Amino acid sequence: MSETEKIVTRIAPSPTGQMHIGTVRTALFNYLFAKQHQGSYFVRIEDTDRDRNKEEWVDAIWEDFTWCNLPPDKKFRQSEHIERHKELLTSLIASDKAYVSKEPKKDDPTQEVEVVRLKNPGTRVTFTDLIRGPVTFDTTDLGDFIIARSIDDPLYHFAVVVDDGDAGVTHVLRAEEHISNTPRQILILEALGFTRPHYAHFPLILAPDRSKLSKRKHGASIESYRTQGFIPEAILNYLALLGWNPGGEQEIFSLEELTTLFSLEKVHKSGAIFDIEKFRWFNQQHIERLQAQEFESRLRSFIESQGRAIPMHLTLAVAKELQHRSATLMEAEEHLHGEFSCLGSDFQHPSVELLLKGAKVEALEAKRHLEHSIKLLGAVTSFTKETVKESIYSYATAQGRSAVLWPMRTALSGMEKSPDPFTLSELLGKDETISRIEVASRVL
Ligand code: GLU
Repeated sequence: MSETEKIVTRIAPSPTGQMHIGTVRTALFNYLFAKQHQGSYFVRIEDTDRDRNKEEWVDAIWEDFTWCNLPPDKKFRQSEHIERHKELLTSLIASDKAYVSKEPKKDDPTQEVEVVRLKNPGTRVTFTDLIRGPVTFDTTDLGDFIIARSIDDPLYHFAVVVDDGDAGVTHVLRAEEHISNTPRQILILEALGFTRPHYAHFPLILAPDRSKLSKRKHGASIESYRTQGFIPEAILNYLALLGWNPGGEQEIFSLEELTTLFSLEKVHKSGAIFDIEKFRWFNQQHIERLQAQEFESRLRSFIESQGRAIPMHLTLAVAKELQHRSATLMEAEEHLHGEFSCLGSDFQHPSVELLLKGAKVEALEAKRHLEHSIKLLGAVTSFTKETVKESIYSYATAQGRSAVLWPMRTALSGMEKSPDPFTLSELLGKDETISRIEVASRVL
């Protein structure tokens, strides 16, 4: 790459379904490489396969890139370039580098079609893959391969070469499965007299059994992770480390850090295994790093985007607690309906059995502890989990922690499992805390 060359990269998804996370990783690497060199990166939707494309998937692709924080510098659709494809096909035919061939239609030999075939010089094609090194293919066996189904209907190989060339793409960085397409594309670009870009092919993302990670079998679409409550920062961080590593101990990276550190030379040659537990860990780490307000607002948008109602007891204070207990936004939502539901209208006062279950003391003794706790709490002015703990803890330690704290916690939660009584006290506030303990003490 020359010093003055402006780097241009691209991601070229086909709108045939939900976006695979492998496509997001390819987009990310293209983005990082371009941004690191002050270059540009664009998205081109390859929408010329009329049988397989759907308009809804085109919209979904734009949305996914925006949601992931990988907004392109430019975006196009391949179908915008149809006239240009036709023009270059015509000129290749005129210069005798390609020809129209009348032949029986493949699926109906009674009909004739006029395909366009490239005159293949049948050479050995070598290119230097920036990850794998020199790659050589003998192209003799390809024969005069088809580059368009008709003069108005170019095939993928031809359209890609023309679009990349016209957009000034300097680096074609894409998935490994395209490596065998590269020699064909080089023959086409040589016939067109275009400059050859640099190529790099990224290793596959594999499932734990080393099969190719699939949307159908493993739910590996961006949409599926979004609905499970993964956040974009974690997705990009984890995907970056699937098949690339800067070396060193650090694992949590922001997009800015990745942009500084990324290098094609450090991309691995072999497939990377996708580990859902590791992914969840990254998500939890990034959730924890969000500002509490930001986390609350993401949780709200997440719940709304799933068409579910936002529980009334979701406040900033509750969000702060959830932030440290949830690996995903979905888990945070589940906590709201689970252990934290006692903060909402679902609260029910506990039975005597529950109040005593973990206290391991008689009812009268538990009652005495609750009454004393009410007194202690009454004296607390600013009601936080720390001040509440301070006021109760030495008493609880002296009298037996389970004898004091179990009845208090179940009095506040009405549930066998819940956050600790200090956290609950802060979230409920002084009046409600005292009133719930009073009811429990009456029950006893
Ligand atoms: N449209 C192709 C795909 O979705 C990408 C082609 C390319 O990157 O050259 O796999």
